[in-house]
Amino acid sequence: MVFKKILIANRGDVALRVLRACKELNIQTVAIHSTADSEAMHVRLADETVCIGGPSSSESYLNIPAIITAAQLVGADAIHPGVGFLSENSDFAEIVEAHNIVFIGPKADHIKCMGDKIQAKITAKELGIPLVPGSKSDIVDFKNALIEAKEIGYPVLIKAASGGGGRGMKVAMSEKDLEAAFTSAKSEAKAAFGDDRVYMERYLQKPRHIEVQIIGDKFGNTVHLGERECSIQRRHQKVIEEAPSPAIDQTTRDKIGNIASLAVAKMGYLGLGTIEFLYEDGQFFFIEMNTRLQVEHPITEAITGIDLVKEQIMIAAGQPISFKQDDVKFNGHAIECRINAEDPKTFIPSPGKITQFHSPCGLGIRIESCVYSGYVVPPYYDSLIAKLIVHASDREQCILRLKQALKEIVIEPISTTIDLHKDILETSVMKDGSYDIRWLENKLLNNN
Ligand code: ADP
Repeated sequence: MVFKKILIANRGDVALRVLRACKELNIQTVAIHSTADSEAMHVRLADETVCIGGPSSSESYLNIPAIITAAQLVGADAIHPGVGFLSENSDFAEIVEAHNIVFIGPKADHIKCMGDKIQAKITAKELGIPLVPGSKSDIVDFKNALIEAKEIGYPVLIKAASGGGGRGMKVAMSEKDLEAAFTSAKSEAKAAFGDDRVYMERYLQKPRHIEVQIIGDKFGNTVHLGERECSIQRRHQKVIEEAPSPAIDQTTRDKIGNIASLAVAKMGYLGLGTIEFLYEDGQFFFIEMNTRLQVEHPITEAITGIDLVKEQIMIAAGQPISFKQDDVKFNGHAIECRINAEDPKTFIPSPGKITQFHSPCGLGIRIESCVYSGYVVPPYYDSLIAKLIVHASDREQCILRLKQALKEIVIEPISTTIDLHKDILETSVMKDGSYDIRWLENKLLNNN
């Protein structure tokens, strides 16, 4: 079975990314949108469109009854959830399937199990994945926190069980910070996720964030597609990603890739997934698994030549993975810059009308964006408006190509983080790849 019509339950650049993959598979596309997105590019390019609600995400892109009704109205046989919004909502996956529509993603119980980070760590341990030392269950009260922290050793990090986007995470450097960190992590978790359960991990001092892309099909085949390094972060959110990581060699890559691939094979995992690790002193520590397409998937596509979204759709349609582990070859180097509609110094969101847009072009340059001249960035959603992905024969060439592309790109007059990327690219630390997850944050502190 190949799908006839896919409803794309998302917006922005990712909705366009899915739409393009559908077109190349001869699948009809349905865009859903909020009243704020009537002029959006994904709406303009889709075969059919349905306005499903008001501007706020809860009225539109998170509005499950409206999305299901839209899918039934147009006769979609599958729903692609994109990235963010409902992509890791196991209830949504279940409801979609209960309406005889295919959810393009893993099984609901895998989404659920990995969505709860405490459960995810228990599962990861059972699957033979190395963990950050930490509490085995949630921390119920401060007394419990004190005991756990003593056992784990300071500094410790309190994290939300339902966490995401770097929220609900607080560090305690020593016992005197613990009560404040515990209380504020719990209340932030409650406010952000409606779930105040928190757990504790050793706070690694200078790790790198390295994640492995995996894929599984319904026949039990699993393949890993190497790693992405996402250590250039601000507030625990990725800013620049690259593949391969400048910090690991082929033997290490094979080792961690095989651990990840074997783990998902044991789970019977279906579709795309990413296992995220912190990497310090030659050791990997699992932090979480994302059961969906990732924002930074294009850098993996660049170095492997594999279209991950097409593969994801075909797997959901019941096909086997179209390649074997031995077919995966890594070619050259790729870097992605996330361009946000934000002030590059204060990071205050900068929605508004874009009157000038020029996309850089040339060999090895890819832009994933929903922006066009005359587009108005709405204030209601994530501020990511474009991803600039550059691929070249090696890391040095890739950085040079990216610097030129950043010079050429124009998104005006709103503020964007383009200047931040230019700044990062000029540093010696970026040049030699010697950063860790705290490098950018420290650099920003020292600059201001
Ligand atoms: P989220 O789901 O909110 O993104 P993650 O668990 O994926 O949370 O962690 C996001 C980032 O937070 C990591 O990339 C890393 O920078 C930091 N982080 C998470 N756990 C630890 C830890 N135990 N020690 C140090 N930093 C951590």
